[in-house]
Amino acid sequence: MVKLAEWMGKGIFRKHGIPTPVGVVVRSAEEAEAATRTGRVPLPCVVKAQVLAGGRGKGGAVQFANTPAEAALATRSILALEFKGEKVREVLLEQKVSILREFYLSFALDRSLRMPILMASAQGGVEVESVPEEAILRIPIHPFVGLAGYERRQVIRLFGLSGPAAKSLDDLLDRAWGVFQSEDAELVEINPLGLVGSGVIALDAKVVIEDDAAFRHPEYSEVRDDRTPLEEIAREKGIAFVQLDGNIGVIANGAGLTMATLDVLAEFGGRPGVFLDLGGTDDPGKVTEAFLLMAKAMPRAVFLNIFGGVTRCDTVATGLVEAMKQVPASERFPLVARIRGNNEAEGVAILKSAGVTSLSDLKESVQATVRAAEVPVEAPRGTVA
Ligand code: GDP
Ligand code: MN
Repeated sequence: MVKLAEWMGKGIFRKHGIPTPVGVVVRSAEEAEAATRTGRVPLPCVVKAQVLAGGRGKGGAVQFANTPAEAALATRSILALEFKGEKVREVLLEQKVSILREFYLSFALDRSLRMPILMASAQGGVEVESVPEEAILRIPIHPFVGLAGYERRQVIRLFGLSGPAAKSLDDLLDRAWGVFQSEDAELVEINPLGLVGSGVIALDAKVVIEDDAAFRHPEYSEVRDDRTPLEEIAREKGIAFVQLDGNIGVIANGAGLTMATLDVLAEFGGRPGVFLDLGGTDDPGKVTEAFLLMAKAMPRAVFLNIFGGVTRCDTVATGLVEAMKQVPASERFPLVARIRGNNEAEGVAILKSAGVTSLSDLKESVQATVRAAEVPVEAPRGTVA
């Protein structure tokens, strides 16, 4: 999922001819002062944190300024925020407009309908989750037919617009649908869509690009997304690695076994904190790399659950033993291993000679892992099980 910051979303909107307020992105109070003093951003202006979380308006991450000094002050206070866990690094300054009405508009992928869907509400400017179901118009859009004139008129009627405002909304709907399609978006949300004078204008922008289409959009490859730094490293190395909020690490092979292992751990009271899917690899080098990455996530215990099908247990064990030697003392963790299948006996023997006893029973090994994770950190944490 490639979530774009508001200013990038608005850049795309402008490229597609959707009106947005005049604005610039700044990274310091000095820049904000200069941008407003020189008139690059007309005053009064809106000062907006560029974070991916919503609800900025209510959370003090959207402020208003009447003078360059106020713009600098607001920018400084917003840059000092950590909004819903996200550090603010960029601030969008925009000319403040007089909003007559606020609407909600989005195009999204409805996975149960397997179609894009247009959602619109005359109650905009608040989080759509808080809008009553019956106040939201939902129109599935046939992907081949596209957004039809009568569908656009339904939205115009819902918003109660006529004359030039209706014309402007009609045009914007067409262009927003164009953004959704040509940018391979899974979400294009405008909330609020403001009625300003006799036209509509996008006052906020939330654009999410489909991961599977990312290769068609190298222009977004630099975009910060929700991967953790370790997940980022893993991605570069081609390792499937996901961090969760528990404290137990899981190394398994294949998505099915990995997911099932997480479930069984949770069933026995364990909280998975990171999982790593070795996939079909038994390349000892790759196993070593993956294991070292796991160590960096500082799990309290790690459960290695390998089924040797294509993968051979002995080569996985070799990689593992090699990796264990390279883990710095400060990053060591208790390890419980369960390797079954192809060349199992050889694999177990290799682990044994390195001091790792592997258990063959799933329940037993999961319980041993959960127990190991419960041992207080102060206690010595050797390689057990
Ligand atoms: P969000 O709360 O994170 O979705 O941030 P928004 O970009 O939607 O901004 C929050 C609110 O700020 C909007 O609902 C508007 O009421 C207000 N706002 C944003 N831009 C302007 C503007 O140019 N003029 C006025 N008067 N209000 C604005
Ligand atoms: Mn908004």
